[in-house]
Amino acid sequence: MRRAKIVSTLGPASNTVEVISQMIKAGLNVARVNMSHGTHESHAKLIANIREASQKVGQEVAVLIDLQGPKIRVDKLDKPLELEAGSEWVIGTTKDQKDYPEYKDCYIPTVYEKLVEDCHDGARILFDDGLMVARATTRDRGVYKIKVEVGGTLKSNKGINLPDCEVSAPAFTEKDREDLIFGLKQNCDYIALSFVRRKEDVQEVKYLLHSLKKNVPIVSKIEKPQAVDNLEEIMKVTDVIMVARGDMGVELGNHLVPAVQKKIIRMCNQRHIPVITATQMLETMTENPTPTRAEASDVANAVWDGTDAVMLSGETAAGKYPVRTIEMMSSIILEAEKEPKERPFLRDMDLSNVNASVMVAASMIAEKIHAKRILSVTESGHSCLKISQFRPKTPVLGVTNHIETVRKLSLYWGVTPFYLADYDEDDFDFQKDIVQKVKENLSLENGDKLVITRGDGKFFARGSSNSVKVEIIKDRPKVPGGGDVLQEASDNKKKILLDTSVCASCQNCVSICPHDIWQVTEDQFTNTYINEPRINECTMDYECIRVCPTGAIEIIPTDI
Ligand code: PGA
Ligand code: MN
Repeated sequence: MRRAKIVSTLGPASNTVEVISQMIKAGLNVARVNMSHGTHESHAKLIANIREASQKVGQEVAVLIDLQGPKIRVDKLDKPLELEAGSEWVIGTTKDQKDYPEYKDCYIPTVYEKLVEDCHDGARILFDDGLMVARATTRDRGVYKIKVEVGGTLKSNKGINLPDCEVSAPAFTEKDREDLIFGLKQNCDYIALSFVRRKEDVQEVKYLLHSLKKNVPIVSKIEKPQAVDNLEEIMKVTDVIMVARGDMGVELGNHLVPAVQKKIIRMCNQRHIPVITATQMLETMTENPTPTRAEASDVANAVWDGTDAVMLSGETAAGKYPVRTIEMMSSIILEAEKEPKERPFLRDMDLSNVNASVMVAASMIAEKIHAKRILSVTESGHSCLKISQFRPKTPVLGVTNHIETVRKLSLYWGVTPFYLADYDEDDFDFQKDIVQKVKENLSLENGDKLVITRGDGKFFARGSSNSVKVEIIKDRPKVPGGGDVLQEASDNKKKILLDTSVCASCQNCVSICPHDIWQVTEDQFTNTYINEPRINECTMDYECIRVCPTGAIEIIPTDI
């Protein structure tokens, strides 16, 4: 079972119900809709297709709306410009271009109005993801003269990065506001903010959501040098972090990306904030059916760094092999997760919060008793987030009756959402019903254990989980071949009972009893029975009862 999750960008290569269904089957957990491309109409269609594909496959996925943010771009060009190394150009706004006839043949137009104001002498101006590098030399009225250092062909609408400048454009643009409102109408599950620089950039959107009475988690994309400087404070106000290595590489330099990635993931792990590692993870699969070894290692290393999720961009949005890419990513993660990872010591964790301590206790109990699953019963998903961040060895089922929570849980490391639709909260046998459903779903056997965490009050209590319960499966129908359901043997001191409908045939009792009181039949099915002639040897130390995982054995003293 895979623990780290897969975020995958959908686009022209992956916008049909058919392809999305295959991607979900291959392991897609979170579908990213990139607002830098397409129209509201095309996005609405895409989201409808995602929901339909989920229905079809029977597995929900989260929809993440990724806002463009203040991306600075070159405007429309009549024809591509050949920027030769050493050549000089000017850059200014499109609307001012007519005022500078003297620069007619060397004018690079941009729609960003404040570019010249934000720029300073000596600042680097990068084009097309940093493929071309120029340096600002001198300002001439409303335009900046620049000198090309690394040349290339500049086409319309390519991105511009100003890593040395304090860009004054607001982090949250008018377009972002419209896209956000659109996303909320589409019931999106996550919203990502691009080019976050400081905590106020996140807070502004939080306040807006609050005033709209919407509670959608925010993903802060770390891709600006200022954001790297302000990580600590940004982490205090965000729900999720993305290591956005694309623009980060352009702005910081690729050589700094690996170290910054490790640092961000470590900080997120310590603060229990989910983190997504993004961009160029399996880049060559955009064109090829297999990735490079370096890319496979990159995915695995992100998992070992401790990332909660890994992301695909162009590979699945516009690549040739969207389904294959997800299959590949999934299998790389699965292999990486076979390598044990060191976990922090309990005594180093801050467990002063009740929910946190209960969740750690549940993780430890589940691990020690080899439970099959932890069932975290949750309304908002908060408890699942907590337990996910402790990286339990035991897989977690996030049990909820809210479809929005099911979708949100799709991003959480190690958590599989388990949806219980239309459940009557006041039903008395609720817990029993849930265990029953899970049992059927996972085909559990007698003796298998589940660890259940929940709050008190209503079953799907809002707020914190404060109880841990161990449920031992006892009532699965027994394999054929058994004799009487209840075996019984007694002497003058005691009565020994074995409920074979509950016995898991684990043979724990057989191996612990030194008097051969417990034996197994040697036929096709392993069945335990009481070896009646030997029962007077029993010293009644109850060791067999202690080791029986299902409670199938009873020893009742009769001489008192
Ligand atoms: P983008 O963000 O794909 O929206 O640019 C990711 C990144 O910059 O890495
Ligand atoms: Mn980016």
